[in-house]
Amino acid sequence: PFYLDMNEYGQRIRCCVRKRPLNKKEIARNEKDIIDALPKKDLHVNEPKIKLDLTKYTEKHKFVFDEVFDETANNYQVYLHTAYPLVDSIFHKGKATCFAYGQTGAGKTHTMIGNNDGLYALAARDIFHRLNTYFKGQLDVHISFFEIYGGKLFDLLHGRKLLACRSDEKQNVVVVGLGERQVNSAQELMNCIEEGNKIRSTGSTGVNADSSRSHAILQISLKNVKSKKLHGKFSFIDLAGSERGSDTTDNDKQTRKEGADINKSLLALKECIRALDQASKHTPFRQSTLTQVLKDSFIGNSRTVMIANIAPNQTAAEHTLNTLRYADRVK
Ligand code: ADP
Ligand code: MG
Repeated sequence: PFYLDMNEYGQRIRCCVRKRPLNKKEIARNEKDIIDALPKKDLHVNEPKIKLDLTKYTEKHKFVFDEVFDETANNYQVYLHTAYPLVDSIFHKGKATCFAYGQTGAGKTHTMIGNNDGLYALAARDIFHRLNTYFKGQLDVHISFFEIYGGKLFDLLHGRKLLACRSDEKQNVVVVGLGERQVNSAQELMNCIEEGNKIRSTGSTGVNADSSRSHAILQISLKNVKSKKLHGKFSFIDLAGSERGSDTTDNDKQTRKEGADINKSLLALKECIRALDQASKHTPFRQSTLTQVLKDSFIGNSRTVMIANIAPNQTAAEHTLNTLRYADRVK
């Protein structure tokens, strides 16, 4: 097939930035918006506005991304330029992956779930539309929803059951016992997400799993009705707060270990995405549970979009710069 927008959306990796608006608390504290998101592709972290340690911010930072969404963009606009162009590829036996990266509070979950108007819901709607229009009776939809917390996997659709992870004879990682659910509509899919998301933040056993320290992974698989074989797969990953990766000097041992795990997985992720673009022979997916689980998203016919979420306020400047640097290096 020939697509008119091939140049822009045909890339294997796209890296976008989304800036959220100042919230009420920040406005009440009289915090200023220090980010200039220029129309489309350029994004300036506006030096004169930053009132932090000036010695640290003497250079004027400028980054260029595939797309920049400012605070006026809604989830639908973000979707149209990120996940939507990838929906087609899973019907062509491809793997599509969409990451939300960024500091806690920067808008990852807002982007993915929002008020049930996020990327999960919008993609589900389009997937079912296409399925019902062109593939009725041939393909069906199965989902899994799980989180990686402290290097361990928990099934969010089955009461946060702990899952074992091992490699098979071909060195592929298999998640033992990960439940899948067949869903017949976008609404059914969203009901599952709502159910899973409730256990994500609270923990069914009272273990207060902090969602900022876990990666939440939704996988929407298309399967051949007759053969039951996997046809294509869309993965959405709401990553752990990027600032948690620096919890490595915390007084609490558990917190330090979790921080180290998050740091390791975000570094491995960056390397794996970069390897995708360079058609590299070596993809270092073995370095973390996250990248092992997503292994098939990094090889073969796969496409990835990263949405780096940032907060606009001064206090977040350091983390914002870290997020932008990370996103800048992904490509
Ligand atoms: P994260 O998942 O990255 O920790 P959230 O998505 O939970 O952050 O966002 C933190 C808060 O900011 C939430 O109350 C959310 O509704 C709000 N928020 C985030 N992004 C936006 C946006 N683009 N527009 C309006 N509110 C937003
Ligand atoms: Mg969140």
